[in-house]
Amino acid sequence: MTTPDVCPVLVNGDWQDLSNIETSPVHNPSTGEVIALTPMCTAAHVNDAVQAAAAAFPAWWETPPVERARVLFRFKMLLEENFEQVARCNTREHGKTLIESRGDVRRGIEVVEFACSIPSLLSGQTLENVARGIDCETVRQPLGVCVGITPFNFPAMVPLWMYPVALACGNTFVLKPSEKVPLTAIMIARLLERAGLPRGVLNIVHGGRECVDKLLEHPQVRAISFVGSTPVARYIFQTGTRHGKRVQANGSAKNFVIIMPDADTDQSTRSVIEGAFGCAGERCMASSTAILAGKTPKDILSSLAHAAKSIRVGPTDREPQPQMGPLITRQHRDHVAQLIGTGAAEGAKILSDGRDLQCNSGGFFLGATVLDEVQNEMAVAREEIFGPVLNVMRADDLENAIGTINCSPYGNGASIFTRSGKSAREFKHRVKAGMVGINISVPASMAWFPFAGWGDSFFGDLHMQGTEGVQFFTQQKVTTTRWFAEGEGSVWSSK
Ligand code: NAD
Repeated sequence: MTTPDVCPVLVNGDWQDLSNIETSPVHNPSTGEVIALTPMCTAAHVNDAVQAAAAAFPAWWETPPVERARVLFRFKMLLEENFEQVARCNTREHGKTLIESRGDVRRGIEVVEFACSIPSLLSGQTLENVARGIDCETVRQPLGVCVGITPFNFPAMVPLWMYPVALACGNTFVLKPSEKVPLTAIMIARLLERAGLPRGVLNIVHGGRECVDKLLEHPQVRAISFVGSTPVARYIFQTGTRHGKRVQANGSAKNFVIIMPDADTDQSTRSVIEGAFGCAGERCMASSTAILAGKTPKDILSSLAHAAKSIRVGPTDREPQPQMGPLITRQHRDHVAQLIGTGAAEGAKILSDGRDLQCNSGGFFLGATVLDEVQNEMAVAREEIFGPVLNVMRADDLENAIGTINCSPYGNGASIFTRSGKSAREFKHRVKAGMVGINISVPASMAWFPFAGWGDSFFGDLHMQGTEGVQFFTQQKVTTTRWFAEGEGSVWSSK
C-alpha cells in the first residue's frame, strides 16, 4: 500500500512539500480510504505565507483594476475548461454526488464572474461644488493582507466566496481550507496560478487551531473571512477583532420551512425533501425543519416519509451515481446517528430511519431520516444536526409558526410554501432570518447578493458576496479638493 501524499502549501508562488510535520487524514468518504494527508502548519509556516502576501501587496495594489480583472477572466475560462475535473475532485474528497459537486463549482464560478466587474464595482462617488469651488470624491482602496478560513462542506464554493473578490479589490490573500477537504482548493489555486496571478498574491496554508490562531494574531493581517460552525465563528470574531482585524464570520444554522394548508402538496414535499437531503444535509442552508402550520393535508407526512425512504444512497466516486452520498467522516456519521436515537428517546416519532441503511463500500453512510412531533426543547431541535435528518414540527397557524422560528438563536434561512400572497408577505416581513424563501426551500443567495445570515449564524457587519463583499475588502477614502487661481485670496475667504 502506498502512503498518501502530504498536501503542499503555497507560499510566494512555490508549492512546498513540508516534511516531518504532523498530519491529518483526508478521506474518500465513499470508501473510508485515506487519499491524502493535510499538514498541520505551525506559526512559522503561517508567518512565511503572511510575509509573502505582504511583500506582494504593493505591486498588486498598483496593478490597474482592469488588469486584475483580466487575470480573473482567464481564471474563469480555466475553471470552465477544467470544470469536470474539479467537480470530480470535490466529490472524491467530500462525498457529495457529482451533480451536487457541479453545483458547488458553478456557484463559485459565479463569484469569479461577479469579481470580473471590479472596475465598475470599485468606482466611487463625486460631487462638484460641495462648497463654492470645492469638489468631493470617494475612492475604495484595498486593505492589504486578507485571510480566508473555510469549512468542509463546500470545498469549491466557499473559498471562492472570498479570494476572487479580495484579490479583485487589490488585496493579497492567505487561504486556510478545511483540513478535511484541501484537494479541491489546491486544484483551483493551481488554475489561478496558470491564469497569470503574480507570485505571493494568493498563498495557502493548512492546519487547525494553531495555524488559525497565528493568522488571527498576525500583525500584518488586516481582515479575516471565516465560514464554519458557530462556536468557532464566535471565537474567530472575538479573537480577530481583539487583535484589530476586520472580521466577517458565518456560523451554523437551523433553517425552517413552513408548509401552509393552501400549499401545493407535491411541490412543497419535493422541495423540502431536496432541501433537507441535498448534499446529505451537510449544507448551512439545508431545510432541516418543516413546520406544518394549521390543517395541512393528511397525506403530507406519508409523502415526506415515502420520498425520504426512496432516496438512493451510495458511493459517489463511481457510476451509477446515487441520489445521496456519505457524510464527511465516520465520527460525524456516528454523531448524527446518535442524535436520531436521542430524538426518539425524547419523544420524536421516526417516520423514516436512516440508521437502517446497509451499504458495504466502507464509507460513512446514513440514510434519509424523518422525525415527526419534534418539540423545541429536544436536542434534535436545538442542535444543528448537519446530516440527512428532517425534523417535522406542528404549529396552530402562521403566527405560531413564525413564533417558533423567531425563537431560534440562528437566523440563516427560512421559507414558506403557500399560495397566499398575504401569508407570504406577512412571513417575509416578520421572520427573523437573513435569507427568506417564498415557495423555495433553499433560499441561498447567489454571487450578486449578500449571503446574509442573522443571529448566531453571523458575526460581523458586512456579509460575503455582492457589494457588501467589496465593501468588506476595501476601505473608503474621501478627498475634498479646492484649486486656487494664481494670486487668489486666503483659504478662509468666504467667496
Ligand atoms: P468547523 O467550524 O469545524 O471548521 C471550519 C474551519 O475552522 C476549518 O477550516 C477548521 O480547520 C477551523 N477550525 C475548526 N475548529 C477550530 C478551532 N477550535 N479554532 C480555530 N479554527 C478551527 O466547521 P466545519 O465542520 O468544517 O463546517 C460545518 C459548519 O460550517 C456547519 O456548522 C455549517 O452550518 C457551517 N457553514 C456555514 C455557512 C454559512 O454561510 N453560514 C456555510 C457553510 C458551512
